[in-house]
Amino acid sequence: MTEADWIEQLETTPCPLCSSGRHDQLFVARDRLVGLPGEFPVVRCRECSFVFLNPRPSEDALPNWYPDVYYPVGGGAETPEAIAVARGLLSRVETIHSGRSQSILDVGCGTGLFLKFARDAGHQVQGVELSQSAVNYGRNVYGLSIETGGVESVSLPESSLDVITMWHVLEHLPDPVATLERIARLLKPGGVLLFGVPNIESLEAKLFGRRWFSLDAPRHLGHFSPETARRAVGSAGMTIERIDHSAGTAGLVYSLMGDLTGVSLKLRGRQFRNSSYHRLAGLIGVPARAVCTVAARFGRGGAIEVFARKTAP
Ligand SMILES: [Zn+2]
Repeated sequence: MTEADWIEQLETTPCPLCSSGRHDQLFVARDRLVGLPGEFPVVRCRECSFVFLNPRPSEDALPNWYPDVYYPVGGGAETPEAIAVARGLLSRVETIHSGRSQSILDVGCGTGLFLKFARDAGHQVQGVELSQSAVNYGRNVYGLSIETGGVESVSLPESSLDVITMWHVLEHLPDPVATLERIARLLKPGGVLLFGVPNIESLEAKLFGRRWFSLDAPRHLGHFSPETARRAVGSAGMTIERIDHSAGTAGLVYSLMGDLTGVSLKLRGRQFRNSSYHRLAGLIGVPARAVCTVAARFGRGGAIEVFARKTAP
């Protein structure tokens, strides 16, 4: 993709939550993570306050903005950070129907590290993932059952699952309400959807604006807040029981690294394993921990973790 042809790959969209065509531009974002071309206006819906990219890459063009380095696949993906995330997610899931084996679908499961831990803990697990190389890894190395595609095409019966997890996926999807409706149909009555998304109303989003790491333009198409997450889940016929604010530091640290080094971002940083980049990120991490803990305490965490339940039959 060149500087010349990215613009032809964009489409305009009404609000993905309420279909309104009325919105105000907040700022214009660029791809600071991978450095691919394009300028992407971020707008706020005048009707429902949802923040989204508009215009945005068309569904056909989206893969052009997902280079192979974006989601590392293979043994290299099993970083201490990824293992901590997977184990943290399992411990949350196990609070839902504690003490019994659950049927779990992980949407956008990647290579399936979380599912591997969940299976080893005695649960029945299934994954669905768009990346064929991630699917192959999960099947061949972990021996998991993973379908290739999106949750819309997954071949499971309706009302068959206790828990669906979707970790930092919803912000990538062009039609989040349709995805949530499909999830509601797959859950048993009383079943739980647990998902995480970046929080556009967070302290770090306010501090960094168009330079916020978790904007991740143009791969993040929608930017949720507690309020708009509640609206989206309600539109799909589920009820939010709890929203937790994450005290994770990645968003703050990598936003700041972008400003300080110009090299910015996490993916670039990976290419300089032995450089001072990581020492600096480590140093920033110490005060960042305190700031993020306070932000989460006051309901301004960099990401939110949403527990929603299917209440209707
Ligand atoms: Zn709207």
